[in-house]
Amino acid sequence: MIIYIGCDLGGTNIKTGIVNLETGTVLHADSIPTHSQQGHDAVMENMVDLIHSLIKDSGLDKSDIQGLGVSAPGVIDLKNGNTLFLPNFSGQWRDVPLGNTLSSALNLPVTLLNDVRAITYGEYAFGAGQGVNRMACFAIGTGVGGGLVLNGELLLGFQGTAGELGHQTVEINGLRCSCGNYGCLEAYTSGPAIASRAEKAVRQGFTTRIADLVDYDLNKITPEVVARAAKEGDEIAQEIWDSVGHYLGTGIANICVAFGPERVVLAGGVAAAGDLLLKPIKKTLQERVFVMPVENVEVVLSTLGSDAGILGMASWAASKQSQLIIP
Ligand SMILES: [Zn+2]
Repeated sequence: MIIYIGCDLGGTNIKTGIVNLETGTVLHADSIPTHSQQGHDAVMENMVDLIHSLIKDSGLDKSDIQGLGVSAPGVIDLKNGNTLFLPNFSGQWRDVPLGNTLSSALNLPVTLLNDVRAITYGEYAFGAGQGVNRMACFAIGTGVGGGLVLNGELLLGFQGTAGELGHQTVEINGLRCSCGNYGCLEAYTSGPAIASRAEKAVRQGFTTRIADLVDYDLNKITPEVVARAAKEGDEIAQEIWDSVGHYLGTGIANICVAFGPERVVLAGGVAAAGDLLLKPIKKTLQERVFVMPVENVEVVLSTLGSDAGILGMASWAASKQSQLIIP
């Protein structure tokens, strides 16, 4: 067996799994809260303990594990294995030597990657992106991220930041985005953007089932609630999904003309809306792309769900053998 560990250091939880790369299966997984307010030293100690106990519980020998891949939500110095900026973490983790610390403490070769690039690579290696040479992935959740795969490699670009597909401008004079720009795709299609739009519709007095579904506690509105209302025939909810799909379709159209993907994969919690998104996306692609036969570009949903990041990091670490940070 070829066995690597994939770890997703998230703003809320640290999820980690031992992966058999011959079958693309997670053999054993566990997760703990991140608690970034405790500081990076404490968080890294917790990661080491989590990985040690995971190996112990799996019944495998430490020598069976060939390496570790760790993803984090932010900007990472891939060469040196340092986090440069994790905006959702307390202290923002500027210049934290995550790769070297884990590599020494665990005595394992380590590599790091941005979290949505890890999801992209997971879908390419074992999920909805298998078998294609050019793939784009949009990961749509609390934020909107993504990644591009070209000939089996993640396209990381100059400075390693290529693939920020959620921060392309889709409205020139649009809403303020979390990144500071105005009119980013994320500002119209993220989970919070969808919830806030639904809340606004309720407050403006439109007739919609959305308020009933949350017992008039508007803080409980989520994309899942808006999807449920739409599936039950609620016109306001359907209009919201049409609009979200229209913006996503515009973003995907931009990627189609610039990058020419064979397949576009939609991952993240919001993608669970399925056809509510796919229909307006495909319609928008037909309306926006004339310079290529866009009907041949497949737009599909993720098949790995929440395992994508762990599978992606394990397989990315294996593919980067010669570039791992060695203890
Ligand atoms: Zn942005």
